Amino acid sequence: MTALGLQSPVAAMKGVGERLAERLTRLGIERVEDLLFHLPLRYQDRSRLHPLGGLRPQQEVLIQGQVLHAEVVVRRRRALLVRLGDQTGQITLRFFHFGSTQRNQLVTGQWVRAFGEARAGVVGLEMVHPEYRILAEPDGEPLEQTLTPVYPATEGVGQATLRRLIGLARAYGGLHDWLPVDRLPDTLRYGLAEAIELIHAPPVDADTAALLTGRHPAQRRLAFEELVAHQLGMARLRAEARTENAPPLPAPTADSLCARFVGALPFALTGAQQRVMDEIAADLSRAHPMLRLVQGDVGSGKTVVAVAACLQAVAGGYQAAMMAPTELLAEQHYRNAERWLAPLGVRVVWLSGRQRETQRSEVLAELADGRAAVTVGTHALFQEAVRFARLGLVVIDEQHRFGVHQRLALREKAADGGWVPHQLVMTATPIPRTLAMTAYADLDYSVIDELPPGREPVVTVAIPDTRRSEIVERINAAVGRGQQVYWVCTLIEESEALQCETAEATYALLTETLPAVAVGLVHGRLKAADKEAVMRAFQQGELDLLVATTVIEVGVDVPNASLMVIENAERLGLAQLHQLRGRVGRGTAASSCVLLYHPPLGETARRRLQVMRETGDGFEVARHDLEIRGPGELLGTRQTGLARLRVADMAQDADLIPAALQLAHALASVGSAASDALIRRWVAGGIRYAQV
Ligand code: ADP
Ligand code: MG
Repeated sequence: MTALGLQSPVAAMKGVGERLAERLTRLGIERVEDLLFHLPLRYQDRSRLHPLGGLRPQQEVLIQGQVLHAEVVVRRRRALLVRLGDQTGQITLRFFHFGSTQRNQLVTGQWVRAFGEARAGVVGLEMVHPEYRILAEPDGEPLEQTLTPVYPATEGVGQATLRRLIGLARAYGGLHDWLPVDRLPDTLRYGLAEAIELIHAPPVDADTAALLTGRHPAQRRLAFEELVAHQLGMARLRAEARTENAPPLPAPTADSLCARFVGALPFALTGAQQRVMDEIAADLSRAHPMLRLVQGDVGSGKTVVAVAACLQAVAGGYQAAMMAPTELLAEQHYRNAERWLAPLGVRVVWLSGRQRETQRSEVLAELADGRAAVTVGTHALFQEAVRFARLGLVVIDEQHRFGVHQRLALREKAADGGWVPHQLVMTATPIPRTLAMTAYADLDYSVIDELPPGREPVVTVAIPDTRRSEIVERINAAVGRGQQVYWVCTLIEESEALQCETAEATYALLTETLPAVAVGLVHGRLKAADKEAVMRAFQQGELDLLVATTVIEVGVDVPNASLMVIENAERLGLAQLHQLRGRVGRGTAASSCVLLYHPPLGETARRRLQVMRETGDGFEVARHDLEIRGPGELLGTRQTGLARLRVADMAQDADLIPAALQLAHALASVGSAASDALIRRWVAGGIRYAQV
C-alpha cells in the first residue's frame, strides 16, 4: 500500500467514508490536496468577546452572558426566547427549533457563550439561532486563537466537517511549491505552504481587513498561482485544438479573390487592418484550426477583415459562415457581403430564424450541396437542420453575445468531414488586453488599434432632459447639412415591449415637431421585413432621422449619420454608451453625441457621463468601466464562455496578469511536470466556464 499523501483520494482519510467522499466531489474535492485549495469565502472573528452593551445590528460577534430569563412564547410561531445579560447590557436569543434539552439547558443563571449576527428585534437586539455553548463557569473556555474560516459548503458537508478535514490535510505536509519565491512578484514573496496556512488559520493579528477583501498578500500569492495555472490550462487547450485537422487555405496572392475584393474597395486598408488580415491569412493557411479573436474599437473596420477571411476560404474551395448576434446586424452584413461579393461571382446567402419556410429550405439546400459560398446569419446557423457541404471558416461577430458553447456547436457543423473549421471571433467590446487574454485565453489575439484616416472624434455632451428643445435645433441643423441622425430610446427595464412603446411615442412626437424631417422608426417588435425596409431606407438616405431602441446598439453602419441622441443615458453602462456612440463618427463629417439625462444624477452615473465626455477611445472607456463596475459586469456576468476563477479576481488582481502570463510561458516551455501539476491543482476537470 502506498503511503497516504496529499495526492491520495480523500476517501483514504480517517473518517471519510464513501458517502462523504462522494459529497465532497460536489465541491471539487477529490484528493487530499484539494482540501488545502478549498479556500474560505470569508472569516468570522471568535477571538474576542463583545460586551453586550456595545453591540450594533448586523454585527457578527461572539458574546457571553448569563441567562436572565427564558420562556417559550407562541405568537405567530412558537419560539424559545432567552434573555442574556452581562454587566454592560442585554440581548435576546431566539430559537424557533428547539427541544427539551435546550429548554433545560438555558435556564436562569446559566452562563452561555454564543456566536451569531446581532439584529434589531422587537425589544432591542436579538440573535436568531446563534451557535451557542453552555459554560460551566464564565472563564472556563479559552477563546479561538485564529480567525475562523467559513468555507463554501454543500448539503451534507457543513462547516464543522470542512474545518476538521482541512485541518487534517494541513497536517499532512509535503505540499509541493511549483512557484518558488524567486519567481513570484516582489510583493508576494510567500511560500505556498505558508500562504495556505495563513489563509486557513489566520492569526488574530493578521491584517483582517485585507483578508476579508481578498487583498492579503497570501491570498494574492494564490491568485497569482491560479492565474498561472489558468494560462497553462488554456495554452494546453489551445495546443490540443491545434492538433485537430482543418483545411489549409492557401494565402491570397496578387490576383486572388481576396486581392480583387480589397482592390475594389473605395478606400485603402489601414495599417492595422492589413496587419490583422496577414495574421489571419497565415493562420488559415495551416492545416490546423485557427482560433483567433480580433478586437477593434467601434468603427475600426472589422467587417472587411472578416470578409477577406471568408474569401480565402472560398478561394480554397470551402464555405464560410458569418454569424451576427442580431437580425439587424446580420442583415447589414448580408447586404454588404452581397454588394461586395456578387460582382466577384461569389454566391452569398442569408439564413435567419424568421425566414419563410420555403425560402429557408432553399437556403438549407444550398448550404448542404455547397452552392452557397458565404452564408450570413444569426444564431439560426447553430440549428440542427443546418448542414454544410464543406464548411472551412466560421466568423463570429460581436463575440460577447455568444458563448463558448455556441462557438463549439458551430464548429461541430463540419465535424463529419474529418476536420473542424477555422474560427474567427470579432468583438468591439473593448477589454484591456491582459483581461482579454485571461477571459478568452483559448484564442489567439489580434487588435485593430487604428481607425480609418479622416475620422473626427465624436464630440460628446451631456444635457439634462429639461433642455430637450435644444436638440430639436441640432437635428434641424444636421439634417440641413445633409446628414443623418439617430435618436435612441432606452429604458432600464429589460422589457422590450415598454421600450418599443417609448420609441413609438418619441417617434410620434418628433414627427410632429419636425415636419420637414423624414423620420423612421425601428424596434425589436417590428417584423423582420419591416425592420429591414426601414434600415435600408435610412442607409440609403431616404430617412433623415431614425428613432430606435437599443436594437441598433452593435454594428449598424451608416457613415452619413453624424448625430446620436441617447435618451436616459444615465441608465446605461459605459460599454453600451460607447457602442451606441460608435454608430456615428464613421464617415468624415464632424459628429456629435448628445447624452440626455434625467436629473438628479447619481454618483456612478455622473462619473460615467464624464468619462464619455472626456474620451472617445474604447480601451480608455473600458479601463474606466473596469474601475467603476468590475470585470464581471464588464464582460457580462450572464454570458457563458468566460473562464471562472476560484481565488483570482480579474479586477483586483489585474496587475498580476502580465507577470502570470510571462511565468506561464516560461513554465510551459520548460517542460510539463510543473504545468501538469498546476493545471491539476487549479483547473482540474478542465477549464471551467461560467454557467448561464
Ligand atoms: P466595425 O469595426 O465597427 O465593425 P465596420 O467594419 O462597420 O466597423 O466599418 C466602419 C466603417 O468604416 C464602414 O463604413 C467601413 O466601410 C469603413 N471602413 C472600413 N475600413 C476602412 C478604411 N480602411 N478606410 C476608410 N473607411 C473604412
Ligand atoms: Mg462591426
